[in-house]
Amino acid sequence: MHGGRVRRFHFARDVEEALSLLAAYGSRGAVLAGGVDLLRSPRGDVEGLVDITRIGLSSVRETGGGVAIGATTTLSGVLESQAGHDYAGGILPEVLRAVASLPLRNMATLGGAVVSAHPWADIPTALVALGAEVRWQGEREGRSLVEELYRTPFRGLFRSAVVTEVRFPPWNGAFAYEKVGRTRYDIALLNACCGVGVEDGRIAWARVAVGARPTRGERLPWAEEALVGRVPGEPLWNEVRRLVEERIEVGEDRRASGEWRRTVAGVLVARAVARAARKASA
Ligand SMILES: Cc1cc2nc3c(=O)[nH]c(=O)nc-3n(C[C@H](O)[C@H](O)[C@H](O)COP(=O)(O)OP(=O)(O)OC[C@H]3O[C@@H](n4cnc5c(N)ncnc54)[C@H](O)[C@@H]3O)c2cc1C
Repeated sequence: MHGGRVRRFHFARDVEEALSLLAAYGSRGAVLAGGVDLLRSPRGDVEGLVDITRIGLSSVRETGGGVAIGATTTLSGVLESQAGHDYAGGILPEVLRAVASLPLRNMATLGGAVVSAHPWADIPTALVALGAEVRWQGEREGRSLVEELYRTPFRGLFRSAVVTEVRFPPWNGAFAYEKVGRTRYDIALLNACCGVGVEDGRIAWARVAVGARPTRGERLPWAEEALVGRVPGEPLWNEVRRLVEERIEVGEDRRASGEWRRTVAGVLVARAVARAARKASA
């Protein structure tokens, strides 16, 4: 952390202690989980760090076809868990293996990924596509779909509240994830997480989210509507690719042009939907 003003480091024993330490520091305190993001960020105003990795929030549980993941579970911890592995056609390993490199995945936590929520990040796109719900403890308990939370100024909220858990609902179908970066370990130039359910040879439901546009991952409801009721197969994937290319809103930044993103978005969505449909029909 730049500025070198950190004076105290606390290992909180439980959520209550973490909250009371945060309250005591006011705006000069911060939750520390894996530290991957916080320690390289330019928050020079932090005096007290509250480490929450020892408060019993590292767990992965199956919940009737869904999965509940404690906020301080590392990305590697999710990858190594059976419940994380089995969920929704194996989508969590697909997404998490695309995140940074093994040493970073050994440190970075799911809760930290929810809160840091970089626009280019892989995990927010997947959380939105999967309908994940985040739960937290602050002055009061709170919960919200990640998709809705990201429409609010959520970072302020987590200056005085601790994310405790992320809940992934059950899906009768499968998801797939696609990412394009300059190298295997680089951040995404564009990413897409898509899911479908197939019943009686037709698509029963569809979820399509695209991120790093360069804005954070959001759903494309019109693409989802275009898929529902249709027969999975190459003609439909081509149609979806063209539709996304025509309608998606993208921007340019120093990494990629809008024109490039528009074309690649169509390809990524078509690929992800096709793979999800194959998994769902298997
Ligand atoms: C070099 C590098 C490469 C990366 N590459 C990728 C990538 O390819 N794809 C990708 O998706 N992401 C990538 N990331 C982002 C990374 O996944 C996240 O930054 C990471 O998950 C953060 O987790 P953490 O536990 O280390 O958070 P920390 O650094 O500990 O915290 C991050 C922020 O969240 C707050 N916070 C953490 N946990 C909680 C909690 N439970 N409740 C409330 N607030 C909390 C902290 O106060 C801080 O503001 C990369 C990051 C780095 C530094």
